[in-house]
Amino acid sequence: MPDSFHVVCPACLAVNRVDPGKIAQGPTCGKCHGKILEPKPVTLTGRTFDAFLAKSDPPVLVDFWAPWCAPCRAMAPAFEQAAAALFPSVILAKLDTQEELAIADRLRIQGVPTMILFRGGREAARTSGARSASDLAAWARSNLS
Ligand code: ZN
Repeated sequence: MPDSFHVVCPACLAVNRVDPGKIAQGPTCGKCHGKILEPKPVTLTGRTFDAFLAKSDPPVLVDFWAPWCAPCRAMAPAFEQAAAALFPSVILAKLDTQEELAIADRLRIQGVPTMILFRGGREAARTSGARSASDLAAWARSNLS
């Protein structure tokens, strides 16, 4: 782990510097005082997606899902478990592709759920179809080593 790293606040988009030693205390945003870096998925929108990915130092694993997709809804608890399992080395996030069609188009999301692992804002790996929590965590780790 580095001495400190940067995480974008998903609410106000302020870039916060986080001390790894203080993660257990539940870091909050210096600007809006909302929680940052929690062991659960972050909800991204068209307004926050690009800035969050570009300026967060940890890799970000995004679940591209849709409310009408039964496998997506079924996978939600597994995705939450994976967020806890990968915390704090990977940030997990969700994007509703029905709400954010422009992003889904730009990333050529063919079907949901699709999971993309981003490093430094760039796509490092992608996988489609529902997965279990342990399978997702193993997939993310294998693409980071
Ligand atoms: Zn904030």
